[in-house]
Amino acid sequence: MSAAAEPRARKGHRDPSRLVIPTIGLVVAGFCAASVAMLNDIRQDTWDRAITGEGNLRKALSQDIARSLETYDLSMQAVADGVAEPELPRLSPRLQDMVLYDRSALGRDLGALLVVDATGKVLRSSLPAAVGTDVAGRDFFVAQRDAADRGLFVGAPFRRGSEGEEVVGLSRRLHTPDGSFAGIVAGTIRLSYFRDLFSKADIGPHGAITLVRRDGICLMRMPSATSCFGRSFAASPNFRAYIAGGSALFTGTAANDGVRRIYDFGTVGDLPLVLSVALAEDDVFAPWRAKAMALAVALTTLCAAAAMLGFALSRQIRRTAAAERDSSASEDQYRLLADHALDIIMRLDRALRRSYVSPAVRAVLGYAPEDLVGSTPRGIIHPDDWSSVLNVIAAAQETGGSAEATYRLRHRDGHYLWMEGRYNSVPGDGGFIVLLRDVTQRKAAEERLAALNAELAAVASSDALTGLANRRRFDAALAEEAGRAARDGTPLSLLMLDVDRFKLYNDAFGHPEGDACLRAVADALLTVVRRPSDLVARYGGEEVAVLLPGTDAAGSLRVAERCRAAVAALKRPHPGNAACGGVVTVSLGCATLDAGDGAPADAAALVSLADARLYEAKRTGRDRVVAHGAVLPVLPLPPDEERRLAVLAHYDAGGATARSPRLDAIAEIAARLLGAPVGFVSLVGREEVTLAGCHGVEMRRFPRDDTYCAHTIQGDDPLVVPDTRADLRFTENALTRDGVGFYAGAPLVSPLEGRRLGALCVVDTEARAALDAHQRALLVDLARLAVEDLERRRLGLDRAAADSGSEAGTEAGPVAA
Ligand code: GH3
Ligand code: MG
Ligand code: MG
Repeated sequence: MSAAAEPRARKGHRDPSRLVIPTIGLVVAGFCAASVAMLNDIRQDTWDRAITGEGNLRKALSQDIARSLETYDLSMQAVADGVAEPELPRLSPRLQDMVLYDRSALGRDLGALLVVDATGKVLRSSLPAAVGTDVAGRDFFVAQRDAADRGLFVGAPFRRGSEGEEVVGLSRRLHTPDGSFAGIVAGTIRLSYFRDLFSKADIGPHGAITLVRRDGICLMRMPSATSCFGRSFAASPNFRAYIAGGSALFTGTAANDGVRRIYDFGTVGDLPLVLSVALAEDDVFAPWRAKAMALAVALTTLCAAAAMLGFALSRQIRRTAAAERDSSASEDQYRLLADHALDIIMRLDRALRRSYVSPAVRAVLGYAPEDLVGSTPRGIIHPDDWSSVLNVIAAAQETGGSAEATYRLRHRDGHYLWMEGRYNSVPGDGGFIVLLRDVTQRKAAEERLAALNAELAAVASSDALTGLANRRRFDAALAEEAGRAARDGTPLSLLMLDVDRFKLYNDAFGHPEGDACLRAVADALLTVVRRPSDLVARYGGEEVAVLLPGTDAAGSLRVAERCRAAVAALKRPHPGNAACGGVVTVSLGCATLDAGDGAPADAAALVSLADARLYEAKRTGRDRVVAHGAVLPVLPLPPDEERRLAVLAHYDAGGATARSPRLDAIAEIAARLLGAPVGFVSLVGREEVTLAGCHGVEMRRFPRDDTYCAHTIQGDDPLVVPDTRADLRFTENALTRDGVGFYAGAPLVSPLEGRRLGALCVVDTEARAALDAHQRALLVDLARLAVEDLERRRLGLDRAAADSGSEAGTEAGPVAA
């Protein structure tokens, strides 16, 4: 990867997961702040409501106390006014009481009203039992006596009577007409009044209500009234602060119980009393605290959940980002590969439109990538190749894999290039990634190679002399066509052709001219065997095989006749072939492989039959075609057979045909030199063949029809039958059936009229290769030796030599005859 590509993969990818925690932290913090603000508000509300309630309670209690005491005070003033009334003494004591004491003002908690003289002695009382008692020592008496303008005096609490009832004394000063001290009107009020009153107020478990005189003496304190009895709060900081003119409302810690409270102080009406209501902060804020606690728990849970969520989210984002980075990086890498690949890489969508074309297209096809993006490949594919491309696309789509085709694409210049295109279907997309490789050069090389191969094959399979197919190609074609014929049930015909008396042609004109003749024959044949499936092959020497697939017997006969006529039409002089017009001629044998009865069963049988018929054509005069009839294994006797037999009889008469050790030796030498187990010298008679010498076999006579030698004497050259079982002339032969597989024999040509008496032969049980020229010459030479032996005995030279060595044999006999 190049250095330039790397930063592209990294840049612009700030880790978004880092923002998650701060964001969630911010949200949670905001939430907490809002909650704290709300709690604060609630606290403030609670505070406000508490102090408002506290104030209201204090005012309500103050009003109640003030009203009760003012009513009592009014009663006391009424008593004071009544006592000063000059008419009062004149009334009866009961009326005086009625005038002085307003019964309605004397309730359960208000004690008896007393009229006390200046000495402290009770003069009158709403409770008669109190009259005469002395209260001169009581604070409510002393206070009025010592101060002229005291107004209503509230005394310190004290216990009264045997039951120790807690009361507070109240007093007003009585004046003489000159304004001096004349005593007091006094009353008491039970502290239980305050207790009852305060106990009705709801001040919470730790709240407190305290009623004190302005000098700090406590009258009543809830909830610990007894402990406060007669105590002075004058030293209490809270009280002092209030008296000193400070705020009526403040928070402080109580000196006696250490509880922190919110105090609300105030004077009770115009009375010299101070009432404070104090709510314990703990009580006030208890509901708020419960709420705050619940909220804190909820918030903590929320924060924990948010934190977990944040971490999970951040991790997920990190993973996603990493995956995206990876995918983006690999995409970049692939793009980089595609951009730098030498092959063209294209992306096709499901409608086969190109969505990407790699830059290599410029170098290969001459187009800019953007020229091709958006269009389909059809526009530049050779019209003849479009269907094969469609097939590939269909195949790739069907298998979901890839498929390949080689086809032509038009260069920008207009010429076509061979490309190898691999279509890879993209899963779940319907489109393709296409890889295109320029194979024009490879294609050209392949074509050159194919042409070269064809040329080589042609050379390897053709005959150098004639240009016809060679034997190898013929064998292969024969096997292939025989197989096809068997499969398809079509006929297959074969012509075997041999130039007549060609040996004599060579003898007359020499081998080079013989070669030219063979070429001329081959050309003549090619002019008449024209079907592409036909094959004209040089079978060997001056023999030609013509393979005619799909041609029946009648057809093959026509072709054979055309061949014969074409060669004859050359009118190539051939003096040795005088019997056939003195020009070069050919003989042909035809055979057909088809379903008919008696037809050859296979390719080998086809060749044998055609060969046998060729032989028949030769035998019956040459320059002809033999296409029909069974080839007889038994040779008919030649026309001049009688003459030959006469010559043989001549030898017989001379005792030459008797078994001879010399001929045995020649037979043995022939067998040994040719590597065969059996060798013999035969003489072919009218009915029988007699062995005059033998090696490896001990029979003396055979039926003439069974022997190969009967065939050998038909010609001047050796007869070689490499495989007797494949040669139609001998397949039915008794010797073949008895195990003879190979036969080679040279005729014994007598000096008498050149008649052929029999043959020097070697046989083997297995088929063997044909003899080479050296072996043939050897056989011919040994045959000559055998004839010499026959000749010596015919002439009686051996006998004469044995008798006296002087008597010469007569030359009488067939020759003379
Ligand atoms: P027949 O009519 O019985 O066939 O007589 P023939 O003389 O043709 O006998 P045969 O077929 O046995 O002889 C074949 C001769 O063909 C032997 C050989 O000298 C000659 N021959 C074979 N191949 C070639 C070749 O390539 N060139 C030349 N010039 N002669 C060849
Ligand atoms: Mg021949
Ligand atoms: Mg020939």
